[in-house]
Amino acid sequence: MKEPAFTGHREVFRSLEQWRRSGRLPHALIFLGPDGIGKQLVARHLAAALLCESQEAPCGDCRSCHLIQEGRHPDLWNLEPDNGRIKIDQIREVKKAMAMPPLVSRVRVVLLAEAHALNPAAANALLKTLEEPPPETYFLLVSHAAGWVPRTILSRCQKIRFSPLSQEELTQILGKQGKEIGPRILRLAQGSVRWALALGEAQADLPSLESLWEGAETLGIDEAYALGQSIQESERLLPLLEGLLLESHQYLTQGPSLPPRSFEVLTFAERILEFRRELRQNANPKLHLPRLLMFFKEPLESRL
Ligand SMILES: [Zn+2]
Repeated sequence: MKEPAFTGHREVFRSLEQWRRSGRLPHALIFLGPDGIGKQLVARHLAAALLCESQEAPCGDCRSCHLIQEGRHPDLWNLEPDNGRIKIDQIREVKKAMAMPPLVSRVRVVLLAEAHALNPAAANALLKTLEEPPPETYFLLVSHAAGWVPRTILSRCQKIRFSPLSQEELTQILGKQGKEIGPRILRLAQGSVRWALALGEAQADLPSLESLWEGAETLGIDEAYALGQSIQESERLLPLLEGLLLESHQYLTQGPSLPPRSFEVLTFAERILEFRRELRQNANPKLHLPRLLMFFKEPLESRL
């Protein structure tokens, strides 16, 4: 398999390539690991390599590669969730196609980029196929939520585990996209490009745990209100909450024993979770956000 143009996961590539070249690639694979680190990119690259007609696959130049680039390769099945779920009809359609030989390539690839979205009926239908996979069909499943993938499905697939990207890899990937990300966001992103981008968008006005805590003395109600207003208006609220949660988590788990203000930070984290729940139920962030931002200013006893 040709080295891909993107960064990271070189070891995974090497094993997949060895399997592919020696004809030992399992017919059902599931790629597992955190969200936003490139599992789908690897799966798509492998799919292109399997379907390609050239030795140096994916060549980018054969009929198969062109059809993939145009998004209309008849032997590449992308099973995407419809309204959040992958349904049994989608599996049935693939099965129908499987009764015939592939149309363009020597093999057929079925890609489930969000395997945790399989609904129970679809999972059952797929399971029967995974038990006896037809020789010319490969199933590539991907999930960042292994706990939601039915166990029966997991047990029929060869599991490939992906590690988070290193900070260097993350910097390199974002650099190629013309994005410069500060050290705080790099740390918070925990090796995920998706996280780094979401948090990076908002970094200009994201107060950190440390700034809320140290600025508590000087932060007035008007300032908290104005800050809250600007954040909620620019749709930066969720990344802000995620960022603060991650920082609280990192503060609490930094060493073998609990750091000095653990109880306060834990309570703060609980407040954030509560706030996020309320937001999902359409609560007005205008009322809650200033209070959250001023958490460290409140007298200790009213906070706990
Ligand atoms: Zn090709």
